[in-house]
Amino acid sequence: MTTQSWHERAAAVQIDGRAFIDGRRIDAASGARFDRISPVDGRKLAEVARCAAPDVDAAVASSRAAFEDGRWGYLPPAARKRVLVRFADLMLAHADELALLETLDMGKPIRYSLNTDVQLAQNCIRWYGEAVDKIYDQVAPAPQDSLALITREPVGVVAAVIPWNYPMLMAAWKLGPALAAGNSVVLKPSEKAPLSALRLAELALEAGIPPGVFNVLPGFGNEAGQALALHMDVDCIAFTGSTRTGKQIVQMAGQSNLKRAWTELGGKSANIVCADCPDLDAAVAAAIGSIYFNQGESCNAPSRLFVEEPIRAAFLEKALRLVPRYAPGDPLDEATVMGAIVDAAQMKTVLGYIEDGKAAGARLLAGGNAARVESGGLYVEPTLFDGVDPAMRIAREEIFGPVLSVLAFTDLDEAIRQANATPYGLAAAVWTADIGRAIRTSRALRAGTVHVNQYDNDDITVPFGGYKQSGNGRDKSLHAFDKYTELKTTWIQI
Ligand code: NAP
Ligand code: MG
Repeated sequence: MTTQSWHERAAAVQIDGRAFIDGRRIDAASGARFDRISPVDGRKLAEVARCAAPDVDAAVASSRAAFEDGRWGYLPPAARKRVLVRFADLMLAHADELALLETLDMGKPIRYSLNTDVQLAQNCIRWYGEAVDKIYDQVAPAPQDSLALITREPVGVVAAVIPWNYPMLMAAWKLGPALAAGNSVVLKPSEKAPLSALRLAELALEAGIPPGVFNVLPGFGNEAGQALALHMDVDCIAFTGSTRTGKQIVQMAGQSNLKRAWTELGGKSANIVCADCPDLDAAVAAAIGSIYFNQGESCNAPSRLFVEEPIRAAFLEKALRLVPRYAPGDPLDEATVMGAIVDAAQMKTVLGYIEDGKAAGARLLAGGNAARVESGGLYVEPTLFDGVDPAMRIAREEIFGPVLSVLAFTDLDEAIRQANATPYGLAAAVWTADIGRAIRTSRALRAGTVHVNQYDNDDITVPFGGYKQSGNGRDKSLHAFDKYTELKTTWIQI
């Protein structure tokens, strides 16, 4: 579609910002609303229901009733499969609309909203839908006078609290396995990007997911989010967001009913490029492409690049030639690969880290400034620091913006040690032509995912999640069912 057509659609878009409870659109009980301002151009997009404790009570009661009467969980598996596959089909049928909402809400380029986020999200729902009638439980090796069954049952009411960087995809990573397992879900999207989740709830209802099985409560973290985490009738909270909030979620679970608390948190992922890297151009393209993808607002962004000294100069020369391609552009232009930063607070954080890197003595080789100021939106240049010391804040803290820190190394063991010297453990990568070195390094890296000679080319079939303070539990793959099911033993005397 042309940029002009996207802008015409954007200008005409009608957004219903009310919550979605028990199959209906509804205002917050207090009547309170908040404004959604687009980071694309500073325009007010919608007024959104500011849900709080009374709305959480209503949504949880609705989800509890839906769970108890079995309107969803007791359907034959093949029937749940058909509904989830229909839900995925409807997402595809509404791909343009969903992609536009996502781009306007949080600023990512329309080409990615359309070809990455909507596609991955619908595929996730479809994949779990298709799994429903293909998973078997177990019979234990019990003595001859007994029959011992090990079965999985849904946990009940699942609260999903998600961030703004991949709003639709993070919703799908929770919804897919939670709904497939037969639970009811109350979803709280981020106040910074609630719009696609609200539309998803309508599509789910249209697909045949019964009222109450999927409720969406927009609102603030310290209001709706906190009320969910403290709720005595929520059985499980599946959280994706910052490590700081993740710690609070786990505490609130302990402080209330010990609901199962699963956390998918931040990262500071290391990308190690050895001198014997089999394809330097591919390594450069992946390093640069992955740190600037989604404006650097990715939990698994390879924000620390360790390059072996003999190839450092060649690597940087190639990298600096690629960087200008990621200059921010109009997110509604399908040619744009870098969009807007989600909001002014995040932009300030990112620019603050850039100032910090400069002051600490890192060499700024590209970017460093705000961009497209005349648009009224929020944009930052793709930024690259060389000569970064492991002790600098830009090497230690998650920036969540388009900022790459390059650290040189001469000894691989020392690079691995530094790669692991972080509270995080989400992802990592190593590039080498030596299979033994690749395996030794991937074993030594304390991260939930290790990429070898590529970055982030995985898919729904493998688990995603963190070691250490990057969280617990795993999204994606059949392992995600561990989060949304209880294991039951039934021992039968014959
Ligand atoms: P965040 O500030 O922790 O917020 C995440 C969610 O928690 C939002 O819905 C937020 O609501 C809510 N929240 C905030 N305070 C809360 C509280 N006291 N009680 C309950 N809920 C609360 O994180 P973010 O800035 O949205 O997201 C960025 C972070 O997510 C990064 O650290 C990134 O690495 C991480 N992330 C991790 C993964 C993964 O799979 N490991 C994937 C994507 C992102 P409001 O926004 O409405 O305040
Ligand atoms: Mg907040």
